[in-house]
Amino acid sequence: MGKQKSSKKDLKPEDFNTGKKPVWCSGCGNFGILMAIRQAFADLGLNKEEIVIISGIGCSDKYHQYIDTYGFESIHGRILPVAMGIKLANHNLKLIAIGGDGDGYGIGMGHFVHAMRRNINITYIVCNNQIYGLTTGQASPTSDKGLITKSTPFGNLEEPVNPISLAIVSGATYVARGFAGDVNHLKKLIIAGIKHNGFSLVDVFQPCVTFNHVNTYDWFNKKVYKLENNKDKHDTKNKDAALKKAMENKKLPIGVFYKKKKITYEEEVEQIKKKPLIKQDISNIRINKLMNEFI
Ligand code: SF4
Repeated sequence: MGKQKSSKKDLKPEDFNTGKKPVWCSGCGNFGILMAIRQAFADLGLNKEEIVIISGIGCSDKYHQYIDTYGFESIHGRILPVAMGIKLANHNLKLIAIGGDGDGYGIGMGHFVHAMRRNINITYIVCNNQIYGLTTGQASPTSDKGLITKSTPFGNLEEPVNPISLAIVSGATYVARGFAGDVNHLKKLIIAGIKHNGFSLVDVFQPCVTFNHVNTYDWFNKKVYKLENNKDKHDTKNKDAALKKAMENKKLPIGVFYKKKKITYEEEVEQIKKKPLIKQDISNIRINKLMNEFI
């Protein structure tokens, strides 16, 4: 975090700018997501000191460098275990995990499922560009079947992971999808995710203009529609309806698929129910004795 700390609640989106120039390719969907996140923090009236951004490896590992809050860059696929550790140490912090589809739905897939079934209060934003961008364009877990990439020159043989349906059945209590080309709508989804008390997933269609020439802004603009504007009035409390919407692939719904109130993991952990671990007096704990019990 930069020098400009603030304890006042009137920060503007630009106050969250670290001043570092993003290294993303011109036109990359990450720019829209970056704008939406900064605007969401400002609209929520959050202070820089109460936010921690955890990122992984990939083009989307840069967010903590461009957003002036606390931040930590973890290793590939391990965003959620690091975020969970920080949350358990101080559950008063807002934990924002940001990574790509390869990081979260590939190598981090196990952590993704387990974090959701715990319902730990973290907002996970996945920049889903359906390709490995940083390593110059290989098929990722969400690449469409048939997509021609460097690693699939005859077309991808595998069915893509459907993160929305997976999140719904794994116990996530807020499941949404946005589009990097609609910053205002995405901002609203992120705000609702941060306000939600429990695990929130915001999967984002994020065009990779350099390596994915199929799932482009034009392609998404023709395919996406907003759940909240749809005439069939999607009920976000109805799990069956949410799953049905998640499986649509001719047109692609964006918005909130599913939302549920449920006690969080940290609210159930006896030792931290009353106050965060970092606020507790541990001066009488004999660390050596404790270590000897385990080693
Ligand atoms: Fe964005 Fe793709 Fe460039 Fe990475 S390679 S910065 S995802 S456009």
